[in-house]
Amino acid sequence: PPRVRIIGGGLAGSEAAWQCARRGLTVELVEMRPVRGTDAHVTDGLAELVCSNSFRSDDAEGNAVGLLHEEMRRLDSLVMASADRHRVPAGGALAVDREGFSRAVQEALEQHPAVTLTRREMAALPAADDGPTLVATGPLTSSALAEAIRAETGEDQLAFFDAIAPIVHRDSIDMDVAWFQSRYDKGEGADYINCPLDRDRYEAFIDALLAADTVAFKEWEGTPYFEGCLPIEVMAARGRETLAHGPMKPVGLTNPRAPDRKPHAIVQLRQDNALGTLYNMVGFQTKLRYGEQARIFRLIPGLEAAEFARLGGIHRNTFLNSPRLLDGTLRLKSRPWVRFAGQITGCEGYVESAAVGLLAGLFAAAEARGETAVPPPGVTALGALLNHITNPAHAETFQPMNVNFGLFPELPADMTRVGKRKLRGRERKALYGQRALPALADWMAGPAVAAAE
Ligand code: FAD
Repeated sequence: PPRVRIIGGGLAGSEAAWQCARRGLTVELVEMRPVRGTDAHVTDGLAELVCSNSFRSDDAEGNAVGLLHEEMRRLDSLVMASADRHRVPAGGALAVDREGFSRAVQEALEQHPAVTLTRREMAALPAADDGPTLVATGPLTSSALAEAIRAETGEDQLAFFDAIAPIVHRDSIDMDVAWFQSRYDKGEGADYINCPLDRDRYEAFIDALLAADTVAFKEWEGTPYFEGCLPIEVMAARGRETLAHGPMKPVGLTNPRAPDRKPHAIVQLRQDNALGTLYNMVGFQTKLRYGEQARIFRLIPGLEAAEFARLGGIHRNTFLNSPRLLDGTLRLKSRPWVRFAGQITGCEGYVESAAVGLLAGLFAAAEARGETAVPPPGVTALGALLNHITNPAHAETFQPMNVNFGLFPELPADMTRVGKRKLRGRERKALYGQRALPALADWMAGPAVAAAE
């Protein structure tokens, strides 16, 4: 039978191994623990949850991660089956007993006759004659392998920290206050959304920033600040006008509603996804606590009712510029026998990492059978997540992100109305699943997803 080697026995690698083994491949799963540890793992178990024990919302009708759960269950996900089996009470969330969960994943793989688990560190990228390999070594990829990846991809294509600016759903921005314009009207024209602050609003915003709580770095993370990418609260602490001269400088822009009055500062938002449903706050990477972020950023005129697809953060996180380096089925363009999966591809979260592992496993299995690997439809949660990671249009601004409905193509107008009534809230969110699950079923019936044994 065809073979595949999978490096990293975390959420993504374990799920990929399961999907490959169930489709007739012989799998060697290579995990470095306990031979070499990471700064966050404390056991030698497969699929160890390094922090929270929650897989977040299990509501497939109201939440994108809940929909992702459902799609993964339909694809016989080992991670989801193990989570369901070791579920602990957590309201609408899916939380698990972490030890039982990790043990269940490990036992299923150890008991599968096609899977061999070996314990060693992989320090180099495989050559073509090593055969198909899947790299799922996670946000704490060992430094030897990370260096090998950097040597292959170029220094600036593998990051060791994320620097995440908040992302806002475009339809929650008040366009009676904000306006579209690029600085000095450069580029294609109106690529940015601009929110103006007069002096009073600016002062209030700075006061709030300076008084806010931040999240501390863990000791092992170090302090990754480098000039040019400072958190906004650090910039504000250097001087009250630093932001007005930095990311919030009001030059090259004219408020069409008050052309004669120059704002004291401007917050710019830049389109974040090819669909144009999400906008990121330019230069607003931050270590503020999440609750503080939502409160303080809603002080900005035009963002009073902002809905955040993602809040800002800075964490130790090894990830590729996947939109540039990987093709649409997660193959490294420069070594197409190597696939990447999990958090190292720039998805974010346990569930997302496992989901990308699931996809990489299906793609590898399809190829081994001589089929063409076909990505899932973009209207599914799996497809939306994959599109975030692999769409070349995202290369310039790429940062890790959890799955969310902002990553999905917009719902067609005829779906969002019943007669004259426009659907909102939960009713509207449920439509994403109603559109996704039949599309998923069609894809699963095609040759790209052979039935598991
Ligand atoms: P991992 O689960 O980390 O698996 C990678 C595996 O590869 C590890 O077992 C590692 O030992 C192994 N490995 C690394 N290098 C090599 C090598 N060279 N050779 C062989 N094996 C190697 N997400 C959430 O949803 N909720 C959270 O609360 C959460 N907290 C996090 C806290 C921290 C400190 C970090 C770093 C991340 C956190 N994440 C969280 C993000 C992410 O979802 C998890 O890290 C998740 O485990 C990623 O899955 P993965 O399979 O990509 O990587």
